[in-house]
Amino acid sequence: MSVLVVGSVALDTVKTPFGFQREVLGGSATYFSMAASFFTKVKVVAVIGTDFDENHFKLFKKRGVDWSGIERKPGKSFRWEGEYRDDINTAITKKTSLNVFREFDPVLPGKYRGSRTVFLANIDPDLQMKVLGQIRLPKLVVCDTMNFWIENKSDSLRKMISHVDILLMNDGEVRQFTGEANLFKAVRAVLKLGPRTVVVKRGEFGAMMFHGNTIFAVPAFPLDRAVDPTGAGDSFAGGFVGYLSGKKALTVDHLRQAVVFGSVMASFAVQGFSIDSFRTLTHEKIRERYRQFKELTSFRSL
Ligand code: AMP
Repeated sequence: MSVLVVGSVALDTVKTPFGFQREVLGGSATYFSMAASFFTKVKVVAVIGTDFDENHFKLFKKRGVDWSGIERKPGKSFRWEGEYRDDINTAITKKTSLNVFREFDPVLPGKYRGSRTVFLANIDPDLQMKVLGQIRLPKLVVCDTMNFWIENKSDSLRKMISHVDILLMNDGEVRQFTGEANLFKAVRAVLKLGPRTVVVKRGEFGAMMFHGNTIFAVPAFPLDRAVDPTGAGDSFAGGFVGYLSGKKALTVDHLRQAVVFGSVMASFAVQGFSIDSFRTLTHEKIRERYRQFKELTSFRSL
């Protein structure tokens, strides 16, 4: 079992109420890989520039992530600058510099083409489609996106979404993409495009999954300090897809568990800047937080 991910590997400059970090390791594929590596083998497709420091790969190596699908191209690496103010749920994008991603034309190594589980992390939807088109027989395709692509590539996004089994999106983005103010109407509109399952991420309010007639909701893990929310969505995806990649059939119970594992991994990601929380994370800590989630969400009928 393994997961193939295509997404950004970035240098992020981030300001939050708890500090400021310049050009630290980030990107949708990076956070996803770190989180998913606790559940499955991960193979990454992305592009970096000549300025990207090889030392960043040490943690990929430590976590057993296969980065042979990351191409180095002449030019600058993708960069993102963002800020979080009092509303910790909303990233204010200051600058997005696509750089080497602008010309990126991914050609998958042969060993990647038989991948069964694919995660199309937040990146240009045309690139997401190019990668998906090279996979022979994907069994489970999950995708994520963000407002930048809703605003700049809405038609491509619509096409890409029609090819996936599960869509992950922020609540604000589902509304923006569909033009529906009501979340449930917005989700129904997205389901009509093709995915069987939609997971709506709601920042500090948790996540909601919609699958057939099932709606499943979990809160976010109660934390005293969310130091840096960057990567919460991608880390959620890592836990969610990583857990599902090991399952033969997708039952609603598996999907529910996956939402909890996604929430567990997102809660760790936000406790530090960049991918710092993953450096010291262990399976034991994940199991313990999973138990705490169970306690948090269970009740007995009296
Ligand atoms: P999230 O999990 O939504 O907080 O994603 C955070 C990561 O997304 C950051 O590390 C950024 O480098 C990356 N990112 C921001 N904007 C884009 C974009 N337009 N395309 C791809 N990745 C992006």
